[in-house]
This record gives sequence, structure tokens and C-alpha cells, in this order.
Amino acid sequence: MTKIKVGILGATGAVGQRFVQLLADHPWFEIAALGASDRSAGMAYRERRWVLQPDMPAAVRDMRLVLGEPQSFAGCQVIFSATPNDVAERVEAEFAAAGYYVFTNAGPHRMDADVPLMITDVNPEHAALLPIQQAQRGWSGFIVANANCTATHLTSALKPLHDAFGLEKVFVVSMQAVSGAGYPGVSTMDISDNVIPYIGNEEPKLEEEPLKMLGRFDGQGVVFADFAVSAHCNRVATLDGHLECVSVALRTKATPEEAAEALRSYRSLPQALGLPSAPDPCIVVRDEPDRPQVRLDRMTGAGMTTVVGRIRRDPILDLKFVLLGHNTVRGAAGGSVLNAELLSKQGYIR
Ligand code: NAP
Repeated sequence: MTKIKVGILGATGAVGQRFVQLLADHPWFEIAALGASDRSAGMAYRERRWVLQPDMPAAVRDMRLVLGEPQSFAGCQVIFSATPNDVAERVEAEFAAAGYYVFTNAGPHRMDADVPLMITDVNPEHAALLPIQQAQRGWSGFIVANANCTATHLTSALKPLHDAFGLEKVFVVSMQAVSGAGYPGVSTMDISDNVIPYIGNEEPKLEEEPLKMLGRFDGQGVVFADFAVSAHCNRVATLDGHLECVSVALRTKATPEEAAEALRSYRSLPQALGLPSAPDPCIVVRDEPDRPQVRLDRMTGAGMTTVVGRIRRDPILDLKFVLLGHNTVRGAAGGSVLNAELLSKQGYIR
């Protein structure tokens, strides 16, 4: 099988390096171009600092970094974007207009009415927005967005509960790892011995994005889900993996055991299609009283799984639980790659 040639925008950053790692040996995709800022363009990829384990894949070490503009990515069909928001806002539409299939981790297009905000296990049917997007904008390419990393894992855990019991209210407190702020990110002096109870513009994303992803595609657009989310977001001194403490009010009452069963038994299209990056199961429920833990559980399912535990009654709402997910794997690069696998399998990528 001829592999699909892909390019990565922001290839030197925290998410960009995850893309490189996940795509280096991918069975369907082949890295053909790596983009970065004008500070890095022209350098060999190996000249930039690699922050992941294991070492930088051999196949990309000598590739030259290019500017993040469409003409530098000629020959690629798919663009995985991990650029800062201001750059994404400027360039992603240019790529889509030029015929590239763009899978973005950045924020600017997430809430556009004609852009699927997609978690492959949660709302694969929202891909039906793509022909609408292409017709409305006159693009031969398209943009598919990933959710915010914290919203990704929250929504993944809420989906089976919403399907089975209906959500009425969600209250969430996050403890988010430093890699969520990019590289080099938060300064050591700020985060050591500390919890920072503010992450700029994070709480609105957590309060809005799940409603779009759990919304219903009605043939024209997405009708947002009808429940309220209240979020507190904190930066903590862990490296990777966001932990979230969640309380929910349900429209149909359920016991902790019934909620656990709904989460445990949840399967979706990526598992049915056997997509290469699909975790199976996509949600793991732990029974131990002290799990999930960030260091022990973030690589569950190669970092693609959402781990839930401590499901119990909530004296104010109905149920409460803890969830954990890897922010740069499932919450960013891995989520994009899985979206691209699905759309490739379904014939959206030609
Ligand atoms: P990062 O570590 O700061 O990396 C930014 C990347 O963008 C670098 O490769 C950088 O290249 C490149 N870049 C910067 N300015 C540019 C310009 N003017 N033109 C082209 N490229 C430019 O950031 P990150 O954490 O990987 O985040 C990337 C995107 O993903 C952001 O939109 C972020 O909100 C989103 N996201 C991040 C996470 C996470 O957990 N970190 C999760 C979900 C979504 P140079 O090395 O040349 O500067």
C-alpha cells in the first residue's frame, strides 16, 4: 500500500514532537515535511532539542525544517497542525484552500459551525460537516479540529454517561501537567513547589467544547448538547497527563455500578474498524481506591485511553469520579492521527 504523505506544522514543539513520534512508523502515513517558525526553518530537525523518550526517530533526523506555508508542503496530502493559535488562525485556512486536509490541535477553528470538533470514539458522525464546509468555503481541502486536551478526556468519559443516563450538570476541577503549556512552557521558578490556579482561556474551552462534541448532527450542522459545565483549571507540577475530578447530575438516576458498566462497555467506530491507533477499550475503569494516578496510568493504551476511577455517589450532584488522560498523546497528536485514520478509511482523504 502506498503511504499517504503528511506534513507537520509546529514539528519542534511539545505536540509536534509527539506527531513525529507517532507517525515515524505509521502503517498508512509517511512524514514528508516538517514545519516550524522562521527561527528554525533551514535547520536539520536533529539540531532542535528533542524532549521525548526514546530518542528522535532516525528517519527524521536529517530532514530540513521548512516554513509553515502551503508551498513548502507540496507533495503532502495531510497536514497535522501543532502551531500556536495566532499562526493557526492565519495559515490553516490557506492550507485547506490549497487542497490540503488539515488536522489541527490549535483553537481558532474549533467552534466554527462547519468544522468538525472530533474525538474519533465520541462523535465520528460529525465528519459529515466536511462536505458542507468545503461547499461553503469553496475549499478542496478541509479542516478537522481536535478538542482542547482536558476537554478531550472529559468528553470521552462523559459520552457513555450522556448516552445511557443523560447529563444535566457537570462540575470539573482539573490538575494539568506542564507539557500542556508547550515547550519550554511554564518556568521552573513558577511551577516548582506550587499549584497555579489559573490557565489562560482554559476554562471556557472546557465549558463549551464538550457541548459541541456531544451535540447531534442534524444534516445541516451540530445542535449543541443541553447541559451545563462548570470548570476550574489548575496547572500542577507533573510532566504529562491531566487529572480531572468530576461531579455530574444525571437526568435518569444511576448507581456507581451502573455508571461503571456504561463506561466499561463503551465501544465506538474506531474499535469496530480496527484503526491502527484505536485503543481498545477506549475507556478503562479502575476499581482501586487510589487510581488513576498520573505517573502510573497516563500511558494506558499507549496514551490513547481515558482512565476513570473512584466512581461514587455525590451528596450534592448524583455521581463523582476521577479521570486521567495523556494530554499530548490522546489529548493532541494521537487524537489527530486517529481522526486522520478514520477519514482516510472512510474515503474523505483522496
Ligand atoms: P509549543 O511547544 O510552543 O510548540 C509550538 C510550535 O509552533 C513549535 O514547533 C514552533 O516552532 C512553532 N511555531 C511558533 N511560531 C511559529 C510561526 N510563526 N510560524 C510557524 N511555526 C511556528 O506548543 P505546543 O504545546 O506543541 O502546542 C501547539 C498547539 O497545540 C497550540 O495551538 C496548543 O494550544 C495546542 N495544544 C497543545 C496541547 C499540549 O498538551 N501541549 C494539547 C492540545 C492542544 P519553533 O521551534 O521554530 O519556534
